[in-house]
Amino acid sequence: MKSKNKLISFQSIKLKNLGLFTACALMLSQVGMYQTGANHLIVRLALTDYPTQMKQIHQMDMDIAGVNLNDHTVDLVVNEQQSQQLQILGFHFVQMKSRNSLASPDREYQTPAKIEALLKDYAAKYPNLAEVHSVGKSLEGNDIWVIRITGDIAHPNPAKPHIFFNGMHHAREVMSVEVPLDTINTLLTQYGQDAKVTHWVDANEIWILPMFNVDGNQKVWKSDSMWRKNTRGNYGVDINRNYPYAWNSCNGSSSSHSAQDYHGDSAASEPETKVMMNLVKTIRPVFSISYHSYSEIVIYPYGCEGQHTPTKEVVEGIGTEMASKIVTDDGSGHYTAGTAPELLYSVDGGDIDWMYHEYQDIPYVIEVNSTNQGFQPSYREWRDQTVSRVKPAWEFLLDRLDGSSIFGQIKNAQGLGVANAQVHIERTSGGNAFVQDYPAHDDGTFDVILPEGTYNVTFNASGLGTKSTQVTVAGQRVEVPVSLIE
Ligand SMILES: [Zn+2]
Repeated sequence: MKSKNKLISFQSIKLKNLGLFTACALMLSQVGMYQTGANHLIVRLALTDYPTQMKQIHQMDMDIAGVNLNDHTVDLVVNEQQSQQLQILGFHFVQMKSRNSLASPDREYQTPAKIEALLKDYAAKYPNLAEVHSVGKSLEGNDIWVIRITGDIAHPNPAKPHIFFNGMHHAREVMSVEVPLDTINTLLTQYGQDAKVTHWVDANEIWILPMFNVDGNQKVWKSDSMWRKNTRGNYGVDINRNYPYAWNSCNGSSSSHSAQDYHGDSAASEPETKVMMNLVKTIRPVFSISYHSYSEIVIYPYGCEGQHTPTKEVVEGIGTEMASKIVTDDGSGHYTAGTAPELLYSVDGGDIDWMYHEYQDIPYVIEVNSTNQGFQPSYREWRDQTVSRVKPAWEFLLDRLDGSSIFGQIKNAQGLGVANAQVHIERTSGGNAFVQDYPAHDDGTFDVILPEGTYNVTFNASGLGTKSTQVTVAGQRVEVPVSLIE
């Protein structure tokens, strides 16, 4: 988990807003503490004051593994000394398990080599539907693979909406790879058999990147089953705190190398982050899901306390709908949706905030599995159950691509797509007013999910002027033809 024999003291722990903790912390700062890294303790704490205590634990740079929002327990991966700190601070322990850092996940879970082989096999078997690309290299120079799935793959159609699913920003979250793999398998094997699947594949461009943190995953198999970050300098950077929007801005990540949410030396410092940014810029998905584990929650932007997207009605409405479709591991209920600070604590530099802010991709994080299953549940017992529980959520997103939205291509007098064009959208009736500024894709195409209503839509591109039109959206995609001819 962390570098060996690294001296940590309480001075390095962020004490902001800790209130009563300060006295104990100062006392402990006299005692040097060593982390051995040999064994992990996974402790479960019952929080009497949620989410205040949750935010306090987060500010202490503790490794927060997951939560149970029903009984307000939180799981932490700690060493002996951290466990003692928590006891001194008066936290209520309900469980403590030790795990040898060399204990690997079940061998059926994926490795980078298996992912590469699997994706290439699919592309070879379904050449008319699937194509595999390396989208770039990790810090250690390993390829990161994506599969593109669509009908009539040799003839790209700019009118098709794009959707993106990815897994494993965090190396130890092995189930986060299995869900996107199940999506690939479902789409390719059911194409031509199942009418819905056939429609999804024909009507859309579906991009799936099942294993993002390839270097970290190798470390999980080789030396540390609880490794989360990439492998920068043996301390690692949390790739999902390294994106440039609001990077290191709201106590939503750590400046300490040893913290599990270390944000890196600068925004987008990591090659993996850059690879993801390039891919998203290229494909411009309408929706995306980043799979993580665990906690049984659906998270949408924004990650800093009190911030919401201007298109809340759509972003939060769809997130809540998806959460309601995923049955929890114990079968007693459904996932819970919210922003990170509503459910857990603030997060800055995360992928979903960047995707939304930069491109108005509507992005979600889904944290699969409960605290009982943890990061690496028994493959035989939980793999198939988990992927089938999550399936209705991604199916819902694919269905929603056919729902209320506007799309088209902004063209010039020669009928060619215009670069750097903008779409300004104002709802004039049919619900709460809102304004959205959407950057069209590099080829002038746009694809904007909207709630039902009537909108004034203005298109503009510098040098080509402006055009406005009124559009009513009622449950379907509406094509808006646009020629910017002065
Ligand atoms: Zn994660």
